Amino acid sequence: MKKDNTQIIRKISLVFFLLSSTIIFILHNISSYFPSVDFICPFGGIETLYRFLASKSFLSKTTVSNIILFILTLFSGIFLGRIFCGWVCSFGALQGFFRWIGSKIVKRKIILLPKFDRFLRLLKYILLPIILYFTYKTSTLIIRPYDPWAAYAHITSGFSELFTEFAVGFTILLITIFLSIFIDRPFCKYLCPLGAFLGIIRVFNTNTIIRDKETCITCKKCDQICPMNIEIMEKEKVSSSECINCFECISKCPTKKETLKLKTFRIKINPLFSGILIVTLFLLTYILGSLVPIQGLSLPITKQQISIDNPTNSERLNFVVPAGFDIKGSMSISEIALELKISPSEVIKILGLPEDAPIDIPLRDFIEQYGTTVQDLKNKIKTEK
Ligand code: SF4
Ligand code: SF4
Repeated sequence: MKKDNTQIIRKISLVFFLLSSTIIFILHNISSYFPSVDFICPFGGIETLYRFLASKSFLSKTTVSNIILFILTLFSGIFLGRIFCGWVCSFGALQGFFRWIGSKIVKRKIILLPKFDRFLRLLKYILLPIILYFTYKTSTLIIRPYDPWAAYAHITSGFSELFTEFAVGFTILLITIFLSIFIDRPFCKYLCPLGAFLGIIRVFNTNTIIRDKETCITCKKCDQICPMNIEIMEKEKVSSSECINCFECISKCPTKKETLKLKTFRIKINPLFSGILIVTLFLLTYILGSLVPIQGLSLPITKQQISIDNPTNSERLNFVVPAGFDIKGSMSISEIALELKISPSEVIKILGLPEDAPIDIPLRDFIEQYGTTVQDLKNKIKTEK
């Protein structure tokens, strides 16, 4: 068997992205300084793109980080296909993890009947325009309550938030996890709108797997290992929009004659190089974004200045807070006061709430009775450059 580290490194990458995003989500649920799931999702960039181009503003719960991650995913998608899905996506990694557990329990993975499988794969291409249309119409992240990854990110925020905001998303998450035990990447195949988008923009088709018929021994190992159930052995080149560029087929092919090889712009390249390139680009973006800081990616290791309208005169009040400071519905007035290092009564004044507003219960539990929303309060804060 030829020596090939591609799959080891790909799995390390996926485990790293899954673990690091899980840790960030837990930290975000403890302190709003850490990025939220909404800010570090490239699909949020697609959803907020129209608003950004039209008015240089963002949909609620999205920011500049979504646009940056979207641009990165867009270019990787155009030139390298769905390589984001195969090497970086944490939700893909979660499904892979449960499939790995499944492989210890059931020997053979389940492959749906081809007709049924093809029909189900269409769902994500139907869902994508529906989501974008309703996002545009309502100017909200319409998919959020149904998003299993957003639900995953809020598991540690408590049952009340999980079940009031993400009941459907959490149900889809549980179904996805269950199906992943028997089926490779069910959500990626059938429902993921980002996967559909990346499949569509793969127009230049530059990352292509070529099969050499002369040296192929028709052992079918490539077909058996492919998580997207692409019939590689039947083809001379794999140009399917379903291919997630995991390169399992290349790694598994037993011939020593490069029967399967990867070509980009018709030049043969090492699959590992392609994977490392995309992982490095995303890693650098996350690291730079947390250090610069870029809103939505920054970690609370740097400071930033924010200003809030002074209700008593036209001057603004300035505060120095850790980068990433944000008002969350789960925060009480006392907690905001602690972050800003002022008294709760001053916070009440600044936020324009009545003097008798409760100071120790989460904002989302009482704020609407005063005719305002958490988003209205967030809008009072400006991040100073
Ligand atoms: S065709 Fe090869 S690279 Fe593409 S998804 Fe299947 S195994 Fe992975
Ligand atoms: S694994 Fe390699 S040799 Fe076997 S069928 Fe696929 S391309 Fe041919």
